[in-house]
Amino acid sequence: MTGLADTIAAEIGRDRLVSPEDVLGRALDPIGRQAPATWLIRPRSTQEVSAVLRLCHAAGQRLTVMGGATGLAGGLALAEGEWLLSLEAMRGIDIDEGNRVATVGAGAILQDVQERVAEAGLSFPLDLGSRGSATIGGLIACNAGGEKALRFGMMREQVLGLEVVLPDGRVIDLMNSMVKNNTGYDLKQLFIGAEGTLGIVTRAVLRLRADLPSRQTGFAALSEFDAVLKLKSAVEEALGNDLTAFEIMWPGFFDAVASAASGALPVERGSAYYVIFEAEGGRAMTDDMFIAALEPVVEAGLVDDLVLARSNAERDGMWGLRNNIAALIAAYMPPIGYDVSIPLGRMEQFVAAVEARVAQRWPDMRMTAFGHMGDNNLHLVVTLGAADTADKEALNHLIYGEVGKLGGSISAEHGLGSDKRDYLGYSRSPGAIALMREVRALFDPRGILQQGRLLPDAEPNPPQDQ
Ligand SMILES: Cc1cc2nc3c(=O)[nH]c(=O)nc-3n(C[C@H](O)[C@H](O)[C@H](O)COP(=O)(O)OP(=O)(O)OC[C@H]3O[C@@H](n4cnc5c(N)ncnc54)[C@H](O)[C@@H]3O)c2cc1C
Repeated sequence: MTGLADTIAAEIGRDRLVSPEDVLGRALDPIGRQAPATWLIRPRSTQEVSAVLRLCHAAGQRLTVMGGATGLAGGLALAEGEWLLSLEAMRGIDIDEGNRVATVGAGAILQDVQERVAEAGLSFPLDLGSRGSATIGGLIACNAGGEKALRFGMMREQVLGLEVVLPDGRVIDLMNSMVKNNTGYDLKQLFIGAEGTLGIVTRAVLRLRADLPSRQTGFAALSEFDAVLKLKSAVEEALGNDLTAFEIMWPGFFDAVASAASGALPVERGSAYYVIFEAEGGRAMTDDMFIAALEPVVEAGLVDDLVLARSNAERDGMWGLRNNIAALIAAYMPPIGYDVSIPLGRMEQFVAAVEARVAQRWPDMRMTAFGHMGDNNLHLVVTLGAADTADKEALNHLIYGEVGKLGGSISAEHGLGSDKRDYLGYSRSPGAIALMREVRALFDPRGILQQGRLLPDAEPNPPQDQ
């Protein structure tokens, strides 16, 4: 053991430290990053997190918090000599049905929270594909979005209160269980989406909702992007706040998942766009009302085809297509993924411009797009074919340059981590980046947490006209 590891072991217990040889090779994300030989500390309480940070701060020891290791922006890409801290021993879930809140440890797994809340007859509406591993702390740190953000908002909207430990070990109590609380700066919002750079989230108060018994799902094929926009407006007008999801797929995506599908497809191949949309409502919402609400869409000739799920099996089949990312990736090897936001009216132009410019430079390229369109969120998957993967930096500049030109965001929901930090200048002004640096220095003057992530080391690359 090193001197500092010995001191920490004496303070919180030898069994709370995992040795570097046992940490070596652990997965740090779903796309192949692995841990070097480094210490992993597993405190059991906020007080122990505080003690660890106080000691690391005094010694200048850098740390990264590890949740479920499902993040997609390189948030756990460790720098030389950095240690890991996990909240896996802090998974308590306490539900207050009357006040419709859950108080949870930051190490709690999303699916466990969802299941416990459902047992209480309520719902925690944030949902995403990594639910079985992602932790509440990681979801807060990344301000995750997921499939229902259109209706319920991102993680930011689900958090009523927080407890955080600052890099110097101070515990800040921001626990609150009320929807309204205007008592000065809403400090908890600073930590949500901060990717662990300002402090470690140890507990949270989550807002719960009623469990909505009715769920209706539609799958449409369309020929023009303008029709997709009109379909979105029409279902929003017809279904109002009940609209929970509106997801788009370009034909390359649909072909890849359709080829891998074992059952019948909801619609034929051959259209330019595919959309899955879903409404959730109270008992008053019936299938007949959903069908009636969509009649004008069909009568207006907006869709090539429109199918409504008549059973849970049909619904699962539709979502199974949308969520078959493994089939998508297999069809675009080696894949390079992007998570961006684009104003709705510019999405078609964005995808076409990126495709044309990438094809001009890398003729063997193939790409497709899909995403949470209702939240402005597009995911691109690009493969450069035979081109050297070293070209990825040039590809990033090209794509983020187009994002910047159209007033989009280089990160919609995955965060910046180490993978996107150097491109921040495409989405944020120099003044905003400078202020972020000042905020970070205020909270973490010794640079203990998450160094090399979220903010670029040097001045960001100025947006370039590629
Ligand atoms: C199959 C799949 C589907 C996904 N779908 C979506 C989606 O639809 N929408 C979406 O937004 N994201 C999605 N994601 C990515 C999503 O960001 C992560 O799943 C989740 O937010 C990260 O949680 P985690 O516990 O795994 O965090 P980790 O990956 O362990 O960490 C992520 C970052 O958070 C920091 N962190 C972790 N815990 C804490 C804490 N307690 N305090 C402070 N900082 C902390 C880490 O240091 C790191 O910087 C998906 C990922 C996968 C693998």
